Order: sequence, then C-alpha cells, then structure tokens
Amino acid sequence: MKEKKRSVKPFFTQYRGRFAPSPSGELHFGSLLAAMASYADARSQNGLWLLRIDDIDQQRVIPHSDQHIVQSLEQIGFQWDGEISYQSQCISNYEEALEKLIQMGLVYPCHCSRKQIKVLSHDGVYSGTCRHRIIKKNFFHHSLDKNSALRLKVNSDKLFFSDEIQQNCQQNLAREVGDFVIFRRDQVFSYQLSVVVDDYISQISHIIRGFDLLDSTARQIYLQQQLGYPTPKYAHIPLAVNEKQIKLSKLSQAKKIKSNLSTLISAAQFLGQSIMTDKDYDKIEDFWQHLFLIWDINKISKMEKKEIMV
Ligand SMILES: [Zn+2]
Repeated sequence: MKEKKRSVKPFFTQYRGRFAPSPSGELHFGSLLAAMASYADARSQNGLWLLRIDDIDQQRVIPHSDQHIVQSLEQIGFQWDGEISYQSQCISNYEEALEKLIQMGLVYPCHCSRKQIKVLSHDGVYSGTCRHRIIKKNFFHHSLDKNSALRLKVNSDKLFFSDEIQQNCQQNLAREVGDFVIFRRDQVFSYQLSVVVDDYISQISHIIRGFDLLDSTARQIYLQQQLGYPTPKYAHIPLAVNEKQIKLSKLSQAKKIKSNLSTLISAAQFLGQSIMTDKDYDKIEDFWQHLFLIWDINKISKMEKKEIMV
C-alpha cells in the first residue's frame, strides 16, 4: 500500500462518540449504561453518536439479536447518526491494518497451544516463545497455517494514558500483557485490532465504555501508535453488578431491560446524574433533553463496580 504524504489536518474536528454492542444477547442494563453514558456525553457537547454492531466474532453472534438491540434502543429514545455499521462488513479494513503491521516487522505467527501458553506464561503474560518465527509473505493469499495465531510484538515502555473517569492509568505491556494476539487461531481478527481500526475509520474522538475494557486500553493505544492513528479520549464507567457482585452481562443471564422511563432513570442514577423522578417527565424525550442539559461526566463513580437493584 502506497501512502501519499498529505497536509496534516486536525483529526478530531468534531466530537464523535459511539456505542458498539456485540450481538450476543438482548440489551441488558449493563450495556444500557454504556449506551447512555456515551450518548449523553456526545449530545451534551453537540457531538455525533454512532451505532456499530461488533459482530466480528461470528461464533458468538446470536441470530437477530442485533435487531433486538436496535429495537430496544429505539424504544427508549436513542437516536444515532448515520447508518448502523457492522464489523463483519469491514474485514478488508482489518486486513489492510494487519498487512501494515506485518510490513513493519511487528507480527509473528504463534503455534503455541492453549495448554503450552498456560504452562509457560506467568500471570497470563505470553512468554514470547514464538517471537523468532517469521511470517510468510502474502499471509492472506496463501491462507496457510490454519493452526497459528498472529501476535503483535510489544515493547517494555510504560504506556501512560489519562481516563476521563479513572484518571491516570498506566500499563507496561511487555510485563503485564506480553505480545498479544491480533489475528486468532480460528482465523478471526481480534477484538483489539478490529475495534482500533473501526474507531479510526469512523473518526471516533471519545470512547465511553465499561470498566472491564480499561485493561484493553493500553493495547489499543499501542496499536494506534503503531498504525499512526490518533488516540481518542477514553472514559470507563463502573460495571453494574448484582447483589452477588456478579457483572450484569449476557453471561450472568442479565434480563432484557424494560423499555420505559424508570429504566432510564435508574441508569442515569447509577451514572450519578441529578435526574428527577419518572413523574417529572411527560415523555421519554423530555428525560433525554434534561439529561443532555445536566450531564456531568465527573459525577460518575470511579469505582470498578457498583451494585444495582434490577
Ligand atoms: Zn507461541
């Protein structure tokens, strides 16, 4: 791929936020929080808000759940800008990014089995067993080595970033993560790579999402740096947990949200916003207009998780 030198223009000329659910279940309270925080933050700053379906991992996709999520969002008054995008339709973008990383000599095939990785890794950090391996040219065209994953070489620099809620964060990728997988053994692009490429293509300037993804942020920033992408602003909201401290997610069988005003009010309260009661709003649009007006990201708790009664 040839790259022409272009005159540098500021990348983020506008606030562009996004919500990117994976279509592996209904919209539950935990994902509603990420949707609401990203939506309200965008609208309170006159920004755009995009909707993307993260369906790169087709194994995890539950048929029609994308439509159910979209319907749920519509019923409670979310309005996104532009068309909904689907990761499964963007594969060539990921291939291009991977190709670039390969050209830079940062990628190698890993033949280790899950068992080997477990034995050799300390605290889940990949030991770099396959670092000496050379990737064959035209990886995709030969579509060889069905049994290998591709890993990205990391360095031992400490990576610092500022999170709008969690504030100063740092991670040493070499010590805490190790060379990580960007293309999986089952021939699927990794979450880390696909998200970074999508956010770049959509020029996302602000990413607001659940605390569980804080740990992925340094990897994503590292990828942005290698690919020459700008780094958006990040904010990680606390995870909603039940009384047993289990995260409300598809795995813990979190229920589909009720599409009504009181659900929205519970979510806004969870996010620390000074919202009124459901009797104070005539309709859902009034709630949203009020939330955009009073939205204050600084009121969101810095905790990793927070209990919710639903
Ligand atoms: Zn390996």
